[in-house]
Amino acid sequence: MHDPMENDTPDNLEDLFAHNRTWAARMERDRPGFFTSLVKQQTPKYMWIGCSDSRVPANQITGLEPGEVFVHRNVANIVVHSDLNALSAIQFAVERLKVQHIMVVGHYGCGGVQAALEGARIGLADNWIRHIQDVRDRHRVLLSSLPEELRADALCELNVTEQVVNVAVSTVMEDAWSRKQSVSIHGWAFGVHDGLLQDLGMTLDGVKPIEALYKAAVQRIRYKWSKRAELPQANVDPAQAEP
Ligand SMILES: [Zn+2]
Repeated sequence: MHDPMENDTPDNLEDLFAHNRTWAARMERDRPGFFTSLVKQQTPKYMWIGCSDSRVPANQITGLEPGEVFVHRNVANIVVHSDLNALSAIQFAVERLKVQHIMVVGHYGCGGVQAALEGARIGLADNWIRHIQDVRDRHRVLLSSLPEELRADALCELNVTEQVVNVAVSTVMEDAWSRKQSVSIHGWAFGVHDGLLQDLGMTLDGVKPIEALYKAAVQRIRYKWSKRAELPQANVDPAQAEP
């Protein structure tokens, strides 16, 4: 029997519907009652804040199924305190779904990060990318000490670190932690080139001091990329810098 799931890349919208029907039938056949159980409840333990990039799909990367991860994505995984979209999603995830983990996930080879680094003019998105340029400017010394070809990936990690802090200092998280809700925020980076996730060691739980963890994370990023560039480690204590 013809199986559209085994075809190559779908060429048109009809293919997408064909794939969808096949997928739904397969799920129902393998796991009878799967969809009816989804209708009744949504109890994901995880919230994923990632880049809109089509190569970084939260569910596939983590092996999570429908109902298991609450997802918010935008260009270059940015969390801004005036962004009602992101804040509403975080509030819903924390206060209603009671997720236990929020991961901010950047990815190497991110077009948004690259554009920020180059100062390229794209259009309206420049104003969004400006947030990453603020991160770039904050870490100008670190970035300029690296060879050009490593800067974008280092900035990807620095951006994740900054966005983890932005989530942590939001009123939603302050309120959650003040009522002792168990929810932590993590900073990860995904390798489009190898399909692997890296934990950047930036995990905030409302107990440990944000400032110290932030500084240690930046120090680790500095150490990691300097080492990759085989630069002298003059001002870095490896014992402190290694995760
Ligand atoms: Zn991206």
